[in-house]
Amino acid sequence: MNRNLKGMAVGLVMAAGLVATAMSPSKVVYADENESGHIHEMEIIGAAESSCQIAGHAAYYHCADCGKYYKDEAGTTETTPEDENLPLKEHSYEWVVVKEATAKEEGLEQQVCTECQETGESRPIEKLAHAHRMESIPACESTCITHGNHVFYHCVECNQFFKDEAETIPTTLEGEKLPYGDHNYAWVVIKEPTQTEAGLETQMCAYCRHRGDTRRIPSLAPVQNNNDKKTTDNKSVKKNTAKNTDPTKDNPHASAKTGDNTNIFVWLVTMAACAGVTVMETVKKRNMN
Ligand SMILES: [Zn+2]
Ligand SMILES: [Zn+2]
Ligand SMILES: [Zn+2]
Ligand SMILES: [Zn+2]
Repeated sequence: MNRNLKGMAVGLVMAAGLVATAMSPSKVVYADENESGHIHEMEIIGAAESSCQIAGHAAYYHCADCGKYYKDEAGTTETTPEDENLPLKEHSYEWVVVKEATAKEEGLEQQVCTECQETGESRPIEKLAHAHRMESIPACESTCITHGNHVFYHCVECNQFFKDEAETIPTTLEGEKLPYGDHNYAWVVIKEPTQTEAGLETQMCAYCRHRGDTRRIPSLAPVQNNNDKKTTDNKSVKKNTAKNTDPTKDNPHASAKTGDNTNIFVWLVTMAACAGVTVMETVKKRNMN
C-alpha cells in the first residue's frame, strides 16, 4: 500500500516536471535525487564557439536555486564552467604588408589576426621586378694598397652586381677583388755621391713607402759620364713617382658612362677612375652608416 502511494507521489512530481518543461523550455524543474526535497531550477547555458581569445563551451546547465552546474538537464553529471571550456580557436591570420617592396629593397609583410589583431610570423617581400639600369665599373690594376678588378657591372636600381652587361652572371664586390699588386718602386737617392765618396739610393714604393733594394752610386770621378742615369737628384725622382700614381693615366674607362650626375656611384668611380672595387666598397660602407 505505502509503496504504491510513494510511487504515485513520484509519478506526480515527474508529471509536474513534464508540465513545467512544456510551459517554459529553458527552465526545467527536476528532483535532485541526492538532496531530498530540493528541486533544481535548471537554466540552460547555451553553447558558444571558441574565439581566439575567449574559450567557448557546449551547452550545460545551471541551477539558480542551488548554484550547481550540470552537463545534463536531468542534473546527473555535475560540472563547473572551467571544466566546460573548449580550447581557444587558432588566430585567423591574414598577411598584411608592413613595408612595400621597392626595386632597391625588399618589403616586409606580417601575419595579423583579423579578430584580435595579434601579430604572427613575418616574411620578406621580394624586390620589385625591374629592368636593370647598368653602369660599368672600369677595370683597374691592383696596387700594393688597393684591390684591382676586371670590368664588371652594377645596377643603380637594385644595387646588384654582374660580371657581364647582359646581367646573366651575378657577382659581388668581394668576388671581383683581385689580389694586392706589387709595390710601385722608384729609386730615391739617400746620399748624394761626391768626388771622393760613393752615394746611396734605395727603392721606395710610391704608395706605401715600403723600401726595396738599396744600391750604391759611384763617386763623381772624372770617368763618370758613361751612360749612368743613376745620378738623378732626389727631387726629379719624386716627380716621376707622382706621375706614376696618376689614377687617370691609361684608363680607357675613365671618361665613361651615363650622364646621370646625381648618381653617387658614377660620380665617385669617375673621380677615382681606377679603383673600382675599392671605391664601391667605400660607398657601400658609407651607405650603411
Ligand atoms: Zn538545484
Ligand atoms: Zn586572434
Ligand atoms: Zn637592378
Ligand atoms: Zn707599396
